[in-house]
Amino acid sequence: MILIVLREATPEERKIFYCEEWSKKDLPDFILHTLSLREFGFDLDGSGPSHRYNQFLTVEQLADFLRSKAPYGAYSSVALYEHPSLRKGWLKSELVFDVDAKDLPLKRCKCRAGEICEICIDDARGVVAQFVETLRSDLGLREVNTVYSGRGFHIRVTDDAVMKLEGAERGQLVEYITGSVIPTDITLAFGYSRIFRERAARALDRIDEKKIEEAGLRRALAQKLVAEKEKVVAMMRSGKIGEVERIEGMGPKSFRIFLEMLAKINSELTDGKVTIDTKRILRLPSSLHSGVSRKCVLVHDIDRFSPDDAIPKFLR
Ligand SMILES: [Zn+2]
Repeated sequence: MILIVLREATPEERKIFYCEEWSKKDLPDFILHTLSLREFGFDLDGSGPSHRYNQFLTVEQLADFLRSKAPYGAYSSVALYEHPSLRKGWLKSELVFDVDAKDLPLKRCKCRAGEICEICIDDARGVVAQFVETLRSDLGLREVNTVYSGRGFHIRVTDDAVMKLEGAERGQLVEYITGSVIPTDITLAFGYSRIFRERAARALDRIDEKKIEEAGLRRALAQKLVAEKEKVVAMMRSGKIGEVERIEGMGPKSFRIFLEMLAKINSELTDGKVTIDTKRILRLPSSLHSGVSRKCVLVHDIDRFSPDDAIPKFLR
């Protein structure tokens, strides 16, 4: 396991970053084209993003601010407003999914709280790739942007079809994308049933006996599920759920507990609070995450993304 060494950027390094490396060309189009309608927030000294209610009419104004203040953190609203500097006149908001490498359920690595390594970043990358595929293929969305935040990913959808949704509807989308509700018919080859099974297969592939026992299944059954993991994962993927239910020692009651356990693990793949909050500010792509000395960058190809792409020049 290669632990990624993360350290705080000094005020001098922040200044170097914004004056010599930062470029307005690194701002994604979805921000650039709506810049003047967004509220910007800043963490000026590392104490938190409390400098809120900022509006920039042009990208040059934003550039001047970043170069002169070299903030510890820079954020912009997911919402577009008529009056961003008052946070009034809400027009619409991006649909956002936050996948944090350090908070993923069933980690394959031994990272402690706050640590990240290449394995957990790669796990987060895999979850993001699945979510993006579902948003594009199942929901037919086109403007699905992925941003590496410095220690995880933000998926930011800007299709008009989703930007007007209210919090409750966004909550339902979280359940759909993560697979956190047991489907009525779990065997279907398409739609939500397949999404649930795909996410559940990911969980089963990583789960250990202890976690299964904690969910309320007997030890002998937990041992059997782990010993025959490959078979169980394949049954889950292909929709042959009846075979899982017939595993020795399972029965209808244990099977229900088993499915509930998987739905709960799936629900932890993203922080649903971020998705339903239509007035949240998110780290600005192109800016520096000074807590870890990494750039927040737009990801062009999630399958080829390497966290090394986010290392600022002052660390190279
Ligand atoms: Zn890790």
